[in-house]
Amino acid sequence: MVVTRKPIPVGQAVERVMNVSKKGETEWVPLEQSLHRHLAETIIADHDIPAFDRSPYDGFAIRAEDSIHASKENPLTFHVVDHIGAGSVSEKKIGRYEAVRIMTGAKIPDGADTIVMLELANVISENGNERIELKRPFYSGDNISKKGEDTAEGERLIPAGTVIDSGVIALLATFGYAAVNVVKKPKIGIIATGTELLDISDPLEPGKIRNSNASMIYAQIQEAGGEPLNLGKMADHFDSCYEAVKKAIDKVDFLITTGGVSVGDFDFLPAIYERLGANVLFNKVGMRPGSVTTVAEYKGKLLFGLSGNPSACFVGFELFVKPVIKNWLLSDKPYSLYHQATLSKDFLKANPFTRFVRSSVSSENGKLFVDPVGLDKSSSVISLASTNALLVLPGGTKGYQKGDQVIVLMIKEERGCEWPWDIILSSSK
Ligand code: AMP
Ligand code: MG
Repeated sequence: MVVTRKPIPVGQAVERVMNVSKKGETEWVPLEQSLHRHLAETIIADHDIPAFDRSPYDGFAIRAEDSIHASKENPLTFHVVDHIGAGSVSEKKIGRYEAVRIMTGAKIPDGADTIVMLELANVISENGNERIELKRPFYSGDNISKKGEDTAEGERLIPAGTVIDSGVIALLATFGYAAVNVVKKPKIGIIATGTELLDISDPLEPGKIRNSNASMIYAQIQEAGGEPLNLGKMADHFDSCYEAVKKAIDKVDFLITTGGVSVGDFDFLPAIYERLGANVLFNKVGMRPGSVTTVAEYKGKLLFGLSGNPSACFVGFELFVKPVIKNWLLSDKPYSLYHQATLSKDFLKANPFTRFVRSSVSSENGKLFVDPVGLDKSSSVISLASTNALLVLPGGTKGYQKGDQVIVLMIKEERGCEWPWDIILSSSK
């Protein structure tokens, strides 16, 4: 059994976990299956976009210099010598007072250096011939989408680790990525421990509760970009829990257990880590909820022992598991983004340990306000549904009042940040 339980500051605990966290391997997937995956390589433009000067309008390609003296009083005539749509290339080189009728997206013909929009040309058709009259001058380069104006060859466009969304897919398709190199998702096992646990489809029984943690963690893993594997629930029985944990480790990249990590008579996880010979990184963190959160490393794999209390379990995942998943997925900003916000009601409890309060952050007139939600107990489950942020109240602070400036972790935002803990934890008022 673990004898000493010395709490370490939350920033240090996160650091210990991140120091042993790894980067994932990569795999190729078809572009259509790459949505929400993480790019494994930086995308560099291998050609200019556009790859050729092209017309942004339907109109006429001419030599600008021929139109210099055109005016209402002195309309100039150009003979239309060719007609091209997007995808076609004119074989003609435009000469003096010649024009090529051109559609949006078509390559600018040789010799032309400006496009006259269709509505600015007076088109005259006679005996199968077409000519246009211009009543104003056009200037070289006007109305031309220049080669390389969107991006130039060699430009670093999207860094490795970026989450692929529809916009990123547009770029990948543009550069011919029929298959995309992405990071393999970490496979993360979940074992819920507790003799009191029922399956979610079971009717309630006296003294029992439904296993909500496994489903919640399953979803949190998916939100973070990992691949969850629900390995079921275990009664609080040392031998069977030990066997289940040992067996699970070989099937996954990390293992999350919930419950059994405290100091109660049936909390076997500390002893299981000991029997395994796992290296316990910490077994107590100076935080609420979830001070009993324990993380160990075994055979190069992280074993997360999260509290069984739903809110503590939720917070433990956000603080310790999420950055490990993001780091695996090559994100260089694996931590939840933080903002400053105004507290919208009193929170008068003192904070002997750093407190993470489930909260709802909203924006009003460009300012962020944070509202603690529901029951502030680690056992609360109802508050989780309205939580979009964690309000951080650093340890050693007294109560906070409405209007105080506080730090919030924006746990639902895809965009993350670099190491935030020095700033967050020194933000006490
Ligand atoms: P433990 O961490 O095992 O001491 O559990 C702390 C509290 O969380 C107890 O009240 C448990 O009943 C509850 N709990 C444990 N596991 C779960 C779970 N999987 N889903 C919901 N509540 C749980
Ligand atoms: Mg338990």
